Amino acid sequence: MRLTGMSGPVFLSTSVPRTPVPVDGCAVCAALWQQYRDATDPRRAEFCRSRATDIAVEISRHPHPKRTNR
Ligand SMILES: [Zn+2]
Repeated sequence: MRLTGMSGPVFLSTSVPRTPVPVDGCAVCAALWQQYRDATDPRRAEFCRSRATDIAVEISRHPHPKRTNR
């Protein structure tokens, strides 16, 4: 039996992490992460700290089915 570290970190607490952690391989998380980076980059037109917080919450709350077979 081999154990591979393909599963992402799991946040079970209700608190919002300052920096969201997108789940590897999740297209939705990847898209949200891109928006988060835009919203946190002062040089971007999309720069907005409150929006960045909203996106961070969205990423942290995005549900993922458990993948145990890899
Ligand atoms: Zn996701």
